[in-house]
Amino acid sequence: MIETCDFLVIGGGSAGCIIAKRLAVKSAGRIILLEAGKKDEGDAAAVDLFRLDDQTDDYDWGFKAATLKGAKPELNYARARILGGCANHNDCAFLRPPDSDFVEWEQLGAKGWGAADMASYFHRVMENTTVEEAPHHPASQIFVKAGTELGFKKIDFQKQITEGVGYFPLNAKGRLRQSSSITYLHPLSKLPKHLEVWIETQATKILIGNGKAIGAETTRGTIHASRAVILTCGSIQTPQLMMLSGLGQAQHLHEFGIPIVADVPEVGEHLRDHVGAPIVWETHGPVPPWEICPFEATMMLKLDHDAPAPDVLFHFGLRVREKYGEDPRLSVNGPAVKASPNVTRARSEGRVRLASADYRAAPIIELNYFSDPYDMRILMKAMRFTRRLMETPSFQALCKTEVHPGPDVQSDDEWEGYIKSVCETVYHPCGTASIGRVVSPDLRVKGIDNLIIGDASIFPSLITTNINCAVMMAAEKAADLVLDGI
Ligand SMILES: Cc1cc2nc3c(=O)[nH]c(=O)nc-3n(C[C@H](O)[C@H](O)[C@H](O)COP(=O)(O)OP(=O)(O)OC[C@H]3O[C@@H](n4cnc5c(N)ncnc54)[C@H](O)[C@@H]3O)c2cc1C
Repeated sequence: MIETCDFLVIGGGSAGCIIAKRLAVKSAGRIILLEAGKKDEGDAAAVDLFRLDDQTDDYDWGFKAATLKGAKPELNYARARILGGCANHNDCAFLRPPDSDFVEWEQLGAKGWGAADMASYFHRVMENTTVEEAPHHPASQIFVKAGTELGFKKIDFQKQITEGVGYFPLNAKGRLRQSSSITYLHPLSKLPKHLEVWIETQATKILIGNGKAIGAETTRGTIHASRAVILTCGSIQTPQLMMLSGLGQAQHLHEFGIPIVADVPEVGEHLRDHVGAPIVWETHGPVPPWEICPFEATMMLKLDHDAPAPDVLFHFGLRVREKYGEDPRLSVNGPAVKASPNVTRARSEGRVRLASADYRAAPIIELNYFSDPYDMRILMKAMRFTRRLMETPSFQALCKTEVHPGPDVQSDDEWEGYIKSVCETVYHPCGTASIGRVVSPDLRVKGIDNLIIGDASIFPSLITTNINCAVMMAAEKAADLVLDGI
């Protein structure tokens, strides 16, 4: 049997939950929101930020990415597979992007996405979202004090994004995450009748007839959508699903015998991500457990004085292990902390490609970090600066020794080698179906009617801050654009 609806939203993550809910408020048509993963409601490991390390493999798609050009795909590239998406998986750092990011978007051709337009969408997000700081852990306080001892001002980053040191605002109410599934959809039993959330249902192909999106094939059968199909599978799987459906670079699709619906060469290209690297110190004594989140403190630097906004953002970690357990690259013998600076508007571009025409196969993710020399230049400066934390009385009282990279790393070549060997993602892929290249500023896929993209794939460039707040703002705007165009 074929199901029919007015709007089909594919992917129940940060963006998809907002778009589905806003459409339900503004329209009486039947809306189906598809999510491949399970339900988050009632699942403590998903909704309780404190329990982020309790999430097992089945909360994640299990993708691997290649960090450098030609490298093996060995980096765990977390992507949530659960209602609420990566915001039920992340560290809840919630920063409003500075206006300069949207000024740049507009300059890149995203008409209507300027700072003044986006301000109202930020306020809409905040109508639903509680943002708080975690209680300040003693080690986080020391990091902040050390920053001030190096001459930086203490900043309230909820109020402004500028050079200085302080604490992350978190989209969390106490320990309860403020992901968009929790804040826009829960309780699921009270959703309006015309909004249905289908969990554990994966779209396998977008159906296109006569140049118009008409629905999707899914693991629960065919769904037809009369008014719009909206893709919100995230920056990795939105382009993957498009390519599986015949929308992509013709030659690449030919390799897999996928019939071409439209040759859209930029699908999956221009993947941007925040790249960073850690410095790790062993501490004099045990580090007490965190109360809400292992990343509470941050610092922003403006290393290029003419940069429009900080070009480096830190995550100060109360633990060294990565999302998936111990990181063999960063072994420690005792209690330790780390500080990871990342390049805020990193310029290197990677891509997402198909590995197979089978929807169950993971895509190929090539991050191509440091392909633009700007990123290495900024990160190397940031790493040298990070080492200076140990010059401060506060940090010396906390930390015993720098264990990674350690004193042998001094010259540019040594730093470059170290950074390349331990580079980290901040899990912020975006831009793989961006405005101007794949979609128009009203988010319609060029050349295909009724097909709209509403997630982080549409970013015209990488932004200064952690990206979830911007994804939510863009989704609020996307919901308006869906209805405006119909
Ligand atoms: C480990 C980690 C830490 C992070 N930390 C932060 C942070 O502290 N602060 C911050 O601002 N950002 C953070 N981020 C990034 C931020 O959470 C994401 O950028 C944002 O949630 C992306 O939203 P999205 O809607 O584009 O995609 P997602 O939230 O990834 O949603 C996509 C959804 O689509 C589903 N899906 C995919 N394919 C299909 C299909 N074919 N059919 C049906 N469903 C499908 C997926 O299961 C998923 O639920 C982090 C991300 C990760 C992974």
